[in-house]
Amino acid sequence: MNHISKLPKVETNIFTKMSALANTHNAINLSQGFPNFKSDGKLIDLVNNAMVSGHNQYAPMAGSMELREAIAKKFDVLYETSYHPESEITVTAGATQAIYTIISAFVRTDDEVIVFKPAYDCYEPAIVINGGKAISMQLKAPSYTIDWDKVKERISPKTKMIIVNTPHNPSGTILSEEDLLQLQKITEDTNVIVLSDEVYEHIVFDGKKHQSVCLYEGLKNRSLITASFGKTFHNTGWKVGYCCGPRALMEEFKKVHQFNVFCVNHPMQIGLAEYLKKPDHYLELSEFYQEKRDLFLSLIKDSRFCFKPSGGTYFQVLDYSKITNEYDVDFAKRLTIENKIASIPLSVFNDEDIDDNVLRFCFAKTDDTLKQAADILNDL
Ligand code: PMP
Ligand code: GLN
Repeated sequence: MNHISKLPKVETNIFTKMSALANTHNAINLSQGFPNFKSDGKLIDLVNNAMVSGHNQYAPMAGSMELREAIAKKFDVLYETSYHPESEITVTAGATQAIYTIISAFVRTDDEVIVFKPAYDCYEPAIVINGGKAISMQLKAPSYTIDWDKVKERISPKTKMIIVNTPHNPSGTILSEEDLLQLQKITEDTNVIVLSDEVYEHIVFDGKKHQSVCLYEGLKNRSLITASFGKTFHNTGWKVGYCCGPRALMEEFKKVHQFNVFCVNHPMQIGLAEYLKKPDHYLELSEFYQEKRDLFLSLIKDSRFCFKPSGGTYFQVLDYSKITNEYDVDFAKRLTIENKIASIPLSVFNDEDIDDNVLRFCFAKTDDTLKQAADILNDL
């Protein structure tokens, strides 16, 4: 049977490939982003209790009301803003599903979506499969700053959406208040929807404040925010996240959500709702990961890698140009096979042929793992 692929350029993604290579070669896996320590036993007990007490059938389509209320409370505590649990919040199967659903709900054939590169890998395929066109804006290493005047020039009547991601995966940079004000300004007289991927909202370093689009009224009105409990509570395998946004956008979101997942697994939602009642459970995360970042960087400070400390996320980008000028994908593979340490090459998230000789390392690992990793990196 013959068929023409709808995604001819898409291969198995880099996270799958690098984790598989790490497993095959018994390498320390700092590639795919997930913690190698357990999530809080209290949270696991809460989920267990939810199962034992019978929350094992379908959850409401938009998510359990307890969880939506807890999410609304979190917006109030953190950003002093409100999203209505009934009409402005939907619980999703991780941020990946939220992102796919947002793009499917709004992007039509030939619509343009502005995407900043390096870009997390799930944005562009979702745009393409819905008939849209990704308008790529490549940012320059090592600062990856956005030139908003250039973005303004790229906005046209065809622009349906702009995707932003702060703290940013893979670079570990964060957007500033000035960035958000600029975004607000250039979208002000347009119908552009902003998809704001904020899965690392609780992992921001050096005393900085996370710049959520919900802090800016002119952005909040046009934005759908995506978030992930996997990042926040060390359980990426649970795949629970959420999307929130103004009622009119959320109504369209739910029309698609109900047919691509209908609802998300119920006992996890009940457990998370209870766990969220203690804000410390997410407020302490920046400090926790900043200690890991600082440990990792202090351990490799005398290596031949160059770096600017990550501003947020649990990723650190390292420039290896003093070690070799090999293509980053080849170097990442060689490091995994020969040196037993796996990372993610950044070029796969860039426009074609842009290789800045940088690799991304995940430091959501035990101190022991970070020490073992540093020993290898210091020998290169
Ligand atoms: N966006 C970004 C920037 C991510 O790094 C990830 C993965 N961690 C996701 C979205 C997807 O999150 P989830 O695992 O909840 O689907
Ligand atoms: N978000 C994770 C990362 O950036 C990977 C998620 C996945 O494997 N799709 O490493």
